[in-house]
Amino acid sequence: MLTCKEFDDFMVDYLDQDLPVWQKFMCWLHVKMCRECADFVRDYQRTIALGQMAYDDPDEPVPSSVPEELINAALAHQKTK
Ligand SMILES: [Zn+2]
Repeated sequence: MLTCKEFDDFMVDYLDQDLPVWQKFMCWLHVKMCRECADFVRDYQRTIALGQMAYDDPDEPVPSSVPEELINAALAHQKTK
């Protein structure tokens, strides 16, 4: 079982489907068993989707309900593409 910290290290690759099978499985298992990380993954994916929408329409404000650290993580993630 991964710790939350370990899961955090793998999360971006996990969401990119960019992990070896066993690591993917360990991440999947962690998300199934850890409510906090499941919530974080859900928020992160929503933020990525919002980021892509914002990219399509730069005038669209990011909803204030999105935590700033998630926006920054999403932007940093996009820059590495
Ligand atoms: Zn966790």
